[in-house]
Amino acid sequence: MTAPTIAKSPTPPTASAPVEISRHVTGEGTVLWLRCTCGRLRMVSTPDSPLGTPLVAGGSTPGCPDCP
Ligand SMILES: [Zn+2]
Repeated sequence: MTAPTIAKSPTPPTASAPVEISRHVTGEGTVLWLRCTCGRLRMVSTPDSPLGTPLVAGGSTPGCPDCP
């Protein structure tokens, strides 16, 4: 008579996006430190000026979809 209860497991935290470690606002823009899903540390510098080009440093891991 009693329907079987199906335990609803909570959605596991997805590791499908780089994690922000720290953020620094400088005179030229914002510097972000990210931990990629592959474990690599990456620095992303985003200038305040819309004419500026975001700078990414830290290299990339072959096969990692999140590395630039
Ligand atoms: Zn990566």
